[in-house]
Amino acid sequence: MTSSADLPAWIGDELLGTVMAVQANYYWVELHPPVAKPGALSVPRLLCTRRARLKKVGQQVMVGDRVQIEEPDWAGHRGAIAAVLPRLTQLDRPPVANADHIMLVFAIAEPELDCHQLTRFLVKAELTGLAITLCLNKRDLVAVKTQTAWQQRLAQWGYQPQLISVREQLGLEPLRASLRDRVTVISGPSGVGKSSLINTLIPAAQLRVSAVSGKLGRGRHTTRHIELFALSQGGLLADTPGFNQPDIACSPHQLSTCFPEIRTQLSQQQCQFADCLHRGEPGCVVDQAWERYDHYRQLLAECETQAQAVHDSATPDEAFKLKIADAGQVQKEPRLQAKKYRRVSRRSRKQSLDDWRYDLDGSLDDLEALADIEAFTEFE
Ligand code: GDP
Ligand code: ZN
Repeated sequence: MTSSADLPAWIGDELLGTVMAVQANYYWVELHPPVAKPGALSVPRLLCTRRARLKKVGQQVMVGDRVQIEEPDWAGHRGAIAAVLPRLTQLDRPPVANADHIMLVFAIAEPELDCHQLTRFLVKAELTGLAITLCLNKRDLVAVKTQTAWQQRLAQWGYQPQLISVREQLGLEPLRASLRDRVTVISGPSGVGKSSLINTLIPAAQLRVSAVSGKLGRGRHTTRHIELFALSQGGLLADTPGFNQPDIACSPHQLSTCFPEIRTQLSQQQCQFADCLHRGEPGCVVDQAWERYDHYRQLLAECETQAQAVHDSATPDEAFKLKIADAGQVQKEPRLQAKKYRRVSRRSRKQSLDDWRYDLDGSLDDLEALADIEAFTEFE
Protein backbone atom coordinates (compact mmCIF):
# COMPACT_ATOMS: atom_id res chain seq x y z
CA MET A 1 0.00 0.00 0.00
CA THR A 2 1.14 3.54 -0.64
CA SER A 3 1.87 5.26 2.61
CA SER A 4 0.09 8.48 3.43
CA ALA A 5 3.45 10.14 3.69
CA ASP A 6 4.03 9.49 -0.01
CA LEU A 7 0.70 10.85 -1.12
CA PRO A 8 0.68 14.19 -2.89
CA ALA A 9 -0.99 17.22 -1.36
CA TRP A 10 -2.39 18.22 -4.73
CA ILE A 11 -4.00 16.13 -7.43
CA GLY A 12 -4.74 18.46 -10.32
CA ASP A 13 -6.08 21.51 -8.54
CA GLU A 14 -7.57 19.51 -5.67
CA LEU A 15 -5.98 20.01 -2.27
CA LEU A 16 -5.73 16.71 -0.37
CA GLY A 17 -4.67 15.75 3.11
CA THR A 18 -4.94 13.12 5.84
CA VAL A 19 -7.08 13.60 8.95
CA MET A 20 -4.66 13.27 11.87
CA ALA A 21 -7.02 14.02 14.76
CA VAL A 22 -10.70 14.66 15.33
CA GLN A 23 -12.32 16.44 18.19
CA ALA A 24 -15.86 17.67 18.40
CA ASN A 25 -16.45 19.04 14.90
CA TYR A 26 -12.89 19.99 14.11
CA TYR A 27 -10.40 18.03 12.08
CA TRP A 28 -6.65 18.47 11.91
CA VAL A 29 -5.69 17.71 8.35
CA GLU A 30 -2.07 17.17 7.45
CA LEU A 31 -0.95 18.08 3.96
CA HIS A 32 1.57 15.72 2.37
CA PRO A 33 3.93 17.28 1.54
CA PRO A 34 3.38 20.57 3.36
CA VAL A 35 2.13 23.28 1.05
CA ALA A 36 4.43 26.25 0.60
CA LYS A 37 2.70 29.53 1.12
CA PRO A 38 4.30 32.55 -0.61
CA GLY A 39 6.78 34.40 1.56
CA ALA A 40 6.20 32.29 4.66
CA LEU A 41 6.86 28.92 6.17
CA SER A 42 5.20 25.91 4.63
CA VAL A 43 1.83 24.94 6.05
CA PRO A 44 1.78 21.34 7.25
CA ARG A 45 -1.67 21.30 8.85
CA LEU A 46 -5.02 22.96 8.56
CA LEU A 47 -7.77 23.07 11.16
CA CYS A 48 -10.86 22.07 9.20
CA THR A 49 -14.58 21.85 9.57
CA ARG A 50 -16.82 19.50 7.63
CA ARG A 51 -18.98 20.90 4.85
CA ALA A 52 -22.68 20.91 5.71
CA ARG A 53 -23.49 18.79 2.65
CA LEU A 54 -21.29 15.97 3.99
CA LYS A 55 -23.19 16.12 7.23
CA LYS A 56 -26.49 15.98 5.36
CA VAL A 57 -25.59 12.75 3.62
CA GLY A 58 -24.25 11.31 6.90
CA GLN A 59 -20.65 11.17 5.67
CA GLN A 60 -18.50 10.73 8.76
CA VAL A 61 -14.91 11.90 8.80
CA MET A 62 -12.48 9.64 10.68
CA VAL A 63 -8.88 9.82 11.73
CA GLY A 64 -6.88 8.39 8.83
CA ASP A 65 -9.30 9.59 6.17
CA ARG A 66 -7.89 11.08 3.01
CA VAL A 67 -9.89 14.21 2.38
CA GLN A 68 -10.28 16.95 -0.16
CA ILE A 69 -10.06 20.45 1.25
CA GLU A 70 -11.79 23.55 -0.05
CA GLU A 71 -11.20 27.21 0.57
CA PRO A 72 -7.91 26.94 2.45
CA ASP A 73 -7.22 30.03 4.51
CA TRP A 74 -3.43 29.89 4.62
CA ALA A 75 -3.03 32.79 7.01
CA GLY A 76 -5.53 31.40 9.51
CA HIS A 77 -4.48 27.76 8.94
CA ARG A 78 -8.09 26.81 8.28
CA GLY A 79 -10.01 24.92 5.67
CA ALA A 80 -13.19 22.96 5.03
CA ILE A 81 -13.44 19.26 4.21
CA ALA A 82 -15.38 18.95 0.97
CA ALA A 83 -15.07 15.21 0.28
CA VAL A 84 -13.78 11.99 1.82
CA LEU A 85 -11.86 9.69 -0.52
CA PRO A 86 -12.91 6.03 -0.57
CA ARG A 87 -11.49 4.12 2.40
CA LEU A 88 -9.24 1.13 1.95
CA THR A 89 -10.12 -0.16 5.42
CA GLN A 90 -12.25 1.02 8.33
CA LEU A 91 -11.93 0.09 11.98
CA ASP A 92 -14.86 0.95 14.22
CA ARG A 93 -13.18 0.61 17.59
CA PRO A 94 -10.93 2.54 17.54
CA PRO A 95 -12.43 4.56 14.69
CA VAL A 96 -9.55 4.71 12.19
CA ALA A 97 -9.70 4.75 8.40
CA ASN A 98 -7.12 3.27 6.05
CA ALA A 99 -5.11 1.38 8.69
CA ASP A 100 -3.25 -1.62 7.26
CA HIS A 101 -1.35 -2.90 10.28
CA ILE A 102 -1.94 -3.59 13.98
CA MET A 103 0.92 -3.51 16.42
CA LEU A 104 -0.06 -5.40 19.53
CA VAL A 105 2.10 -4.52 22.51
CA PHE A 106 2.39 -6.72 25.59
CA ALA A 107 5.00 -6.88 28.34
CA ILE A 108 7.02 -10.02 28.98
CA ALA A 109 6.93 -9.13 32.70
CA GLU A 110 5.47 -6.42 34.94
CA PRO A 111 2.64 -7.04 34.30
CA GLU A 112 3.06 -10.77 33.92
CA LEU A 113 2.13 -12.03 30.45
CA ASP A 114 -1.37 -13.44 30.66
CA CYS A 115 -1.94 -15.91 27.81
CA HIS A 116 -5.70 -15.69 27.89
CA GLN A 117 -5.63 -11.91 27.71
CA LEU A 118 -3.03 -12.07 24.93
CA THR A 119 -5.28 -14.48 23.04
CA ARG A 120 -8.20 -12.09 23.33
CA PHE A 121 -6.18 -9.22 21.93
CA LEU A 122 -4.82 -11.44 19.16
CA VAL A 123 -8.29 -12.64 18.19
CA LYS A 124 -9.58 -9.08 18.21
CA ALA A 125 -6.69 -8.10 15.94
CA GLU A 126 -7.18 -11.12 13.66
CA LEU A 127 -10.85 -10.18 13.25
CA THR A 128 -9.87 -6.94 11.54
CA GLY A 129 -8.06 -8.86 8.80
CA LEU A 130 -5.11 -6.45 9.05
CA ALA A 131 -1.47 -7.57 9.28
CA ILE A 132 -0.37 -8.08 12.90
CA THR A 133 2.96 -7.45 14.58
CA LEU A 134 3.21 -8.80 18.11
CA CYS A 135 5.64 -6.91 20.22
CA LEU A 136 6.81 -8.02 23.69
CA ASN A 137 8.25 -5.15 25.70
CA LYS A 138 10.36 -5.06 28.89
CA ARG A 139 12.72 -7.80 27.81
CA ASP A 140 15.29 -6.15 30.11
CA LEU A 141 13.37 -7.64 33.05
CA VAL A 142 13.91 -11.31 32.13
CA ALA A 143 16.82 -13.61 31.32
CA VAL A 144 17.63 -14.46 27.69
CA LYS A 145 16.51 -18.03 28.41
CA THR A 146 13.03 -16.78 29.31
CA GLN A 147 12.90 -14.60 26.20
CA THR A 148 13.76 -17.58 24.00
CA ALA A 149 11.17 -19.73 25.74
CA TRP A 150 8.45 -17.15 25.00
CA GLN A 151 9.59 -16.85 21.41
CA GLN A 152 9.32 -20.61 20.95
CA ARG A 153 6.00 -20.82 22.71
CA LEU A 154 4.43 -18.03 20.63
CA ALA A 155 5.87 -19.54 17.44
CA GLN A 156 3.73 -22.59 18.28
CA TRP A 157 0.74 -20.27 18.33
CA GLY A 158 1.74 -19.01 14.89
CA TYR A 159 3.33 -15.67 15.82
CA GLN A 160 6.89 -14.31 15.63
CA PRO A 161 7.05 -11.76 18.45
CA GLN A 162 9.49 -8.86 18.37
CA LEU A 163 11.16 -8.72 21.76
CA ILE A 164 12.03 -5.19 22.74
CA SER A 165 12.94 -3.00 25.65
CA VAL A 166 11.94 0.61 25.37
CA ARG A 167 13.82 1.35 28.58
CA GLU A 168 17.09 -0.15 27.29
CA GLN A 169 16.36 0.75 23.65
CA LEU A 170 16.72 -2.86 22.53
CA GLY A 171 15.21 -4.46 19.44
CA LEU A 172 13.71 -1.22 18.17
CA GLU A 173 15.25 -1.19 14.67
CA PRO A 174 13.35 -4.23 13.36
CA LEU A 175 10.22 -2.73 14.89
CA ARG A 176 10.78 0.58 13.11
CA ALA A 177 11.22 -1.36 9.87
CA SER A 178 7.90 -3.10 10.39
CA LEU A 179 6.16 0.27 10.78
CA ARG A 180 7.68 1.90 7.72
CA ASP A 181 5.18 3.18 5.16
CA ARG A 182 2.24 1.59 6.93
CA VAL A 183 -0.71 3.02 8.79
CA THR A 184 -0.42 1.23 12.11
CA VAL A 185 -2.83 1.06 15.01
CA ILE A 186 -1.10 0.35 18.31
CA SER A 187 -3.03 -1.62 20.89
CA GLY A 188 -2.50 -3.53 24.10
CA PRO A 189 -3.40 -3.52 27.78
CA SER A 190 -2.33 -0.64 29.99
CA GLY A 191 1.00 -0.67 31.75
CA VAL A 192 2.91 -2.57 29.06
CA GLY A 193 4.78 0.49 27.79
CA LYS A 194 2.73 1.70 24.82
CA SER A 195 3.10 5.38 25.68
CA SER A 196 6.81 4.92 26.30
CA LEU A 197 7.12 3.21 22.93
CA ILE A 198 5.21 5.94 21.09
CA ASN A 199 7.43 8.54 22.71
CA THR A 200 10.51 6.68 21.55
CA LEU A 201 9.23 6.21 18.02
CA ILE A 202 7.88 9.76 17.73
CA PRO A 203 9.90 12.18 19.84
CA ALA A 204 7.45 14.99 19.00
CA ALA A 205 4.71 13.02 20.79
CA GLN A 206 6.71 13.28 24.01
CA LEU A 207 6.12 16.99 24.23
CA ARG A 208 2.44 16.43 23.78
CA VAL A 209 2.28 13.78 26.49
CA SER A 210 4.00 15.86 29.08
CA ALA A 211 2.29 19.10 28.13
CA VAL A 212 -0.95 19.58 29.96
CA SER A 213 -3.47 21.08 27.66
CA GLY A 214 -5.14 24.41 28.03
CA LYS A 215 -6.57 25.94 31.12
CA LEU A 216 -8.25 22.74 32.16
CA GLY A 217 -4.90 21.21 33.03
CA ARG A 218 -5.80 17.88 31.49
CA GLY A 219 -3.21 15.48 30.13
CA ARG A 220 -3.61 13.54 26.91
CA HIS A 221 -4.85 10.33 28.51
CA THR A 222 -7.91 11.87 30.01
CA THR A 223 -9.13 12.89 26.57
CA ARG A 224 -10.42 9.90 24.67
CA HIS A 225 -9.67 11.07 21.18
CA ILE A 226 -7.52 9.10 18.77
CA GLU A 227 -4.60 10.73 17.12
CA LEU A 228 -2.31 9.74 14.28
CA PHE A 229 1.39 10.48 14.53
CA ALA A 230 3.67 10.71 11.51
CA LEU A 231 6.76 8.49 11.72
CA SER A 232 9.99 10.08 10.53
CA GLN A 233 10.83 7.10 8.31
CA GLY A 234 7.39 7.23 6.68
CA GLY A 235 4.12 5.82 7.90
CA LEU A 236 1.55 6.78 10.50
CA LEU A 237 0.88 5.47 13.98
CA ALA A 238 -2.41 5.68 15.90
CA ASP A 239 -2.60 4.95 19.57
CA THR A 240 -5.71 3.62 21.22
CA PRO A 241 -6.84 3.99 24.80
CA GLY A 242 -5.64 1.05 26.88
CA PHE A 243 -8.26 -1.51 27.75
CA ASN A 244 -7.82 -4.75 29.61
CA GLN A 245 -10.25 -7.31 28.26
CA PRO A 246 -11.49 -6.61 24.76
CA ASP A 247 -14.86 -8.26 24.24
CA ILE A 248 -14.93 -10.70 21.40
CA ALA A 249 -18.16 -10.70 19.46
CA CYS A 250 -18.15 -12.54 16.19
CA SER A 251 -19.77 -15.60 14.75
CA PRO A 252 -18.41 -18.94 16.00
CA HIS A 253 -17.13 -19.63 12.50
CA GLN A 254 -15.29 -16.27 12.35
CA LEU A 255 -13.64 -17.10 15.66
CA SER A 256 -12.28 -20.35 14.26
CA THR A 257 -10.53 -18.40 11.49
CA CYS A 258 -8.71 -16.26 14.07
CA PHE A 259 -6.41 -19.03 15.29
CA PRO A 260 -3.30 -19.66 13.16
CA GLU A 261 -3.13 -23.15 14.72
CA ILE A 262 -6.47 -24.01 13.08
CA ARG A 263 -5.66 -22.23 9.82
CA THR A 264 -2.44 -24.20 9.39
CA GLN A 265 -4.18 -27.51 9.90
CA LEU A 266 -6.94 -26.58 7.47
CA SER A 267 -4.41 -25.56 4.83
CA GLN A 268 -3.46 -29.25 4.58
CA GLN A 269 -6.95 -30.76 4.43
CA GLN A 270 -10.59 -29.81 4.99
CA CYS A 271 -13.08 -30.97 7.59
CA GLN A 272 -16.01 -32.99 6.30
CA PHE A 273 -18.54 -30.24 7.08
CA ALA A 274 -17.97 -26.64 6.01
CA ASP A 275 -19.47 -25.31 9.27
CA CYS A 276 -17.27 -27.53 11.47
CA LEU A 277 -16.20 -25.79 14.69
CA HIS A 278 -13.50 -28.37 15.44
CA ARG A 279 -14.95 -29.77 18.65
CA GLY A 280 -14.64 -33.40 17.70
CA GLU A 281 -17.40 -33.35 15.06
CA PRO A 282 -17.47 -36.30 12.65
CA GLY A 283 -14.91 -35.81 9.89
CA CYS A 284 -13.06 -32.98 11.72
CA VAL A 285 -9.39 -32.86 10.73
CA VAL A 286 -8.29 -30.34 13.39
CA ASP A 287 -6.56 -32.03 16.31
CA GLN A 288 -6.97 -30.72 19.86
CA ALA A 289 -3.39 -31.06 20.98
CA TRP A 290 -2.35 -27.42 20.91
CA GLU A 291 -1.76 -25.09 23.79
CA ARG A 292 -4.55 -22.62 23.11
CA TYR A 293 -7.24 -25.16 22.35
CA ASP A 294 -8.91 -24.53 25.73
CA HIS A 295 -8.81 -20.76 25.13
CA TYR A 296 -10.43 -21.39 21.75
CA ARG A 297 -13.22 -23.45 23.33
CA GLN A 298 -13.81 -20.85 26.01
CA LEU A 299 -14.07 -18.02 23.47
CA LEU A 300 -16.26 -20.19 21.26
CA ALA A 301 -18.70 -20.61 24.14
CA GLU A 302 -18.70 -16.81 24.61
CA CYS A 303 -19.39 -16.21 20.92
CA GLU A 304 -22.26 -18.66 20.96
CA THR A 305 -23.81 -16.93 23.97
CA GLN A 306 -23.48 -13.57 22.23
CA ALA A 307 -24.88 -14.89 18.96
CA GLN A 308 -27.86 -16.14 20.94
CA ALA A 309 -28.30 -12.71 22.55
CA VAL A 310 -28.30 -11.10 19.10
CA HIS A 311 -30.88 -13.62 17.96
CA ASP A 312 -33.07 -13.10 21.02
CA SER A 313 -32.96 -9.32 20.66
CA ALA A 314 -34.40 -9.54 17.15
CA THR A 315 -37.95 -9.05 18.41
CA PRO A 316 -39.61 -6.19 16.51
CA ASP A 317 -41.01 -4.26 19.48
CA GLU A 318 -37.67 -3.44 21.09
CA ALA A 319 -36.24 0.03 20.75
CA PHE A 320 -32.75 -1.28 20.13
CA LYS A 321 -31.31 -4.16 18.20
CA LEU A 322 -27.91 -5.75 18.58
CA LYS A 323 -25.74 -6.07 15.55
CA ILE A 324 -22.33 -7.63 15.03
CA ALA A 325 -20.17 -5.09 13.23
CA ASP A 326 -17.46 -6.00 10.73
CA ALA A 327 -14.74 -5.51 13.28
CA GLY A 328 -16.44 -8.03 15.53
CA GLN A 329 -17.93 -5.95 18.30
CA VAL A 330 -21.60 -6.10 19.25
CA GLN A 331 -23.27 -2.78 18.59
CA LYS A 332 -26.57 -1.62 19.92
CA GLU A 333 -28.38 0.43 17.33
CA PRO A 334 -31.73 2.19 17.52
CA ARG A 335 -34.38 0.70 15.28
CA LEU A 336 -35.60 4.15 14.33
CA GLN A 337 -32.60 6.13 13.19
CA ALA A 338 -33.79 9.50 14.46
CA LYS A 339 -30.97 12.01 14.35
CA LYS A 340 -30.77 14.28 17.33
CA TYR A 341 -29.01 17.56 17.43
CA ARG A 342 -28.26 19.68 20.36
CA ARG A 343 -27.02 23.15 20.53
CA VAL A 344 -23.53 23.37 21.92
CA SER A 345 -22.86 26.16 24.32
CA ARG A 346 -20.12 28.60 23.52
CA ARG A 347 -18.46 27.57 26.76
CA SER A 348 -18.22 23.89 25.83
CA ARG A 349 -16.99 24.78 22.36
CA LYS A 350 -14.26 26.80 23.94
CA GLN A 351 -13.37 23.96 26.27
CA SER A 352 -13.11 21.48 23.45
CA LEU A 353 -10.79 23.86 21.65
CA ASP A 354 -8.74 24.23 24.80
CA ASP A 355 -8.20 20.50 24.62
CA TRP A 356 -6.31 20.82 21.39
CA ARG A 357 -2.67 20.38 22.03
CA TYR A 358 -1.44 22.28 18.99
CA ASP A 359 -0.38 25.84 19.03
CA LEU A 360 -1.87 27.67 16.11
CA ASP A 361 0.04 30.88 16.73
CA GLY A 362 -2.84 32.24 18.69
CA SER A 363 -5.21 31.91 15.77
CA LEU A 364 -7.65 30.00 17.94
CA ASP A 365 -8.17 33.09 20.05
CA ASP A 366 -10.84 34.23 17.68
CA LEU A 367 -13.38 31.82 19.05
CA GLU A 368 -16.33 33.97 18.05
CA ALA A 369 -15.57 33.48 14.38
CA LEU A 370 -15.07 29.77 14.87
CA ALA A 371 -18.31 29.52 16.81
CA ASP A 372 -20.18 30.95 13.86
CA ILE A 373 -18.84 28.30 11.53
CA GLU A 374 -20.28 25.46 13.60
CA ALA A 375 -23.41 26.29 15.54
CA PHE A 376 -24.63 22.75 15.87
CA THR A 377 -22.96 19.47 16.58
CA GLU A 378 -24.36 15.99 16.24
CA PHE A 379 -25.53 14.43 19.47
CA GLU A 380 -24.09 10.95 19.74
P1 GDP B 1 1.12 2.10 28.79
O1 GDP B 1 0.08 2.12 29.86
O2 GDP B 1 1.04 0.85 27.97
O3 GDP B 1 1.11 3.32 27.93
O4 GDP B 1 2.54 2.00 29.52
P2 GDP B 1 3.58 3.18 29.92
O5 GDP B 1 4.35 3.62 28.73
O6 GDP B 1 2.86 4.21 30.71
O7 GDP B 1 4.58 2.34 30.85
C1 GDP B 1 4.17 1.68 32.03
C2 GDP B 1 5.38 1.49 32.93
O8 GDP B 1 6.30 0.57 32.32
C3 GDP B 1 6.16 2.76 33.16
O9 GDP B 1 6.55 2.76 34.52
C4 GDP B 1 7.36 2.63 32.26
O10 GDP B 1 8.47 3.33 32.75
C5 GDP B 1 7.59 1.14 32.28
N1 GDP B 1 8.30 0.65 31.07
C6 GDP B 1 8.05 0.98 29.79
N2 GDP B 1 8.91 0.34 28.97
C7 GDP B 1 9.72 -0.41 29.75
C8 GDP B 1 10.80 -1.31 29.47
O11 GDP B 1 11.22 -1.54 28.33
N3 GDP B 1 11.36 -1.95 30.55
C9 GDP B 1 10.93 -1.72 31.81
N4 GDP B 1 11.54 -2.38 32.79
N5 GDP B 1 9.91 -0.89 32.11
C10 GDP B 1 9.31 -0.24 31.09
ZN1 ZN C 1 -13.21 -29.40 12.09
